Amino acid sequence: MCGIFGYLGPKTNSLELVIKGLQKLEYRGYDSWGVATDLNGELFVDKKVGKISEAKLDNFKDKSSNIAIGHTRWATHGGVTDINAHPHFSSDKTIAVVHNGIIENYQEIREELGKENFITETDTEVIPQLIAKYRKDNSFKDAVFKAVQRLEGRYAIVVLNVGENYLIAARRGSPLIVGVGKDEYFLASDIPAFLEYTKDVNYLDDDEMVVVDGGVEFINLTTGKPVKKRLINIDWQAESAEKGEYDHYMLKEIMEQKETILRAINQDTDEIMHIAQMIKDSRGCFLSGCGTAGKVCMAGEYFFSIIANRHVNFAPSSEFPVYHHFLRPESLLIIVSQSGETADALEAMEAAKKKGCKVFSIVNVEGSTIARQSDFSLHIKAGPEKAVASTKAATSQMALLLLIATAMIGELQEGRRLLAEVASQINDMLNPRFLNYIKEVAEKIKDQENSYIIGKAENYPMALEAAIKIQEVSYVHAEGFAAGELKHGPIALVTEGTPCISLVANDEVKKDIINNTLELKARGAHIIGISPEKHDVFDDWIKVPDVGIASPLVNIIPTQLLAYYIAVLRGLDPDMPRNLAKSVTVK
Ligand code: GLU
Repeated sequence: MCGIFGYLGPKTNSLELVIKGLQKLEYRGYDSWGVATDLNGELFVDKKVGKISEAKLDNFKDKSSNIAIGHTRWATHGGVTDINAHPHFSSDKTIAVVHNGIIENYQEIREELGKENFITETDTEVIPQLIAKYRKDNSFKDAVFKAVQRLEGRYAIVVLNVGENYLIAARRGSPLIVGVGKDEYFLASDIPAFLEYTKDVNYLDDDEMVVVDGGVEFINLTTGKPVKKRLINIDWQAESAEKGEYDHYMLKEIMEQKETILRAINQDTDEIMHIAQMIKDSRGCFLSGCGTAGKVCMAGEYFFSIIANRHVNFAPSSEFPVYHHFLRPESLLIIVSQSGETADALEAMEAAKKKGCKVFSIVNVEGSTIARQSDFSLHIKAGPEKAVASTKAATSQMALLLLIATAMIGELQEGRRLLAEVASQINDMLNPRFLNYIKEVAEKIKDQENSYIIGKAENYPMALEAAIKIQEVSYVHAEGFAAGELKHGPIALVTEGTPCISLVANDEVKKDIINNTLELKARGAHIIGISPEKHDVFDDWIKVPDVGIASPLVNIIPTQLLAYYIAVLRGLDPDMPRNLAKSVTVK
């Protein structure tokens, strides 16, 4: 979380440029924002509580400088206040730092440097203070090198030193990418920040620093030796990171599912066969992810079981390290992550690697840390996903898992055909009439305090995922259940008019879930049925195509739209829900 951005180049409106870049990273944190530059040998800092989208560019027009850093914060240490906003700077106002991550030994460093010298409550402030300390007897580069050796925890930092016309960045655990343009350089947490200027990037790896002056020099923080890197060309279009005709990224990304599923399954056959074989050869296969990606993994468990007859275990990434007792060199861990930077997922990978297991990952960001640290990785090619609530990445990840399951039984072509059919049916389904109807249903339930979602078999994880969607964007209390579990307790929560969404597929468990839905109805629930067929028990019926085992991919879409419309009708911004941020790079 947190978006960081740095610019060095010939343009003299660096502050405006940094603010515009940060606006593209707003999804990463929106508690506060701030920028810093060197204005004729003096540090200029402006930082405020609030969203970077509210920053007024006009305020920076008269501040000419070709170097600047900026930050959009998701607070971890210290309240959401102006003073705790980044950039943070040294007492002598020579060193300014933006930081993404958590410095675990900050209390100890504060004690050492004298607590009275600190003006914020953040962990980050120790970084500029430490660099300033080392800077007294060292070059800027050596001072940063020495300071970061002292830091424990996770960080991506960009450092500016007044009087030195270059930037230094370093990372351990949090993402940082260098965009290399024509005589200009960008340092950012994510690619969309600079996509309009360049598509040529270098990824900074863990325990590396980069000195950005008239070129880029990478240095290994353990050995102090230079590191050679190849420029990577990113195939994203700048427009794909914009909202275009839509009011919100969330709606745009939901609508994109017409195309993204096709892109996800457009994978090299040899690569799919390779991973199918890896799963077959493994002894103990685990699926792991966080939040929505975790629910995708659970759907994957069902796909592997129903289609490929293969037992795969799921564990949320934050819990996965506990499973190390079951891991051995023949085990396989499959990590699913949109950003490819999720801290909990990285920790799960670390636990697996310690036991010598192989790691396969499914990510949406090529070249991300998870992709690079895996033995094998597939890219879902969904394009930038900027709404905090994941939608198109989730269906693409599921499509790929389903495809792999079909490859495991030698039916890859059939799998491709089924998923192409799913994409075409989603295209037909997402028409203005469908959207309007879902908006009408959302209108009926928007003022309810509680809502429940039930699903069975491969749609049980979708009930959990639908609950996440509703909770995170509309703040309505929502809970997902395995349909058969209701009678064992949760049904006590249902009262007259409680909205209950029932995810019904045309499968072997259809009768059971309809019975469970009737049980809810008998307690007064207002039933919203998402199903290819109409059933008498539904008060409102949202018709979805009948796509067999791929039903989770189509059943989840109306729940994404319901969550979206409930949020909008309640006057909320679905793209930036409170307390959350995209790309959870802290544990
Ligand atoms: N720990 C820093 C703060 O609270 C950075 C937080 C983050 O990266 O999310 O300001």
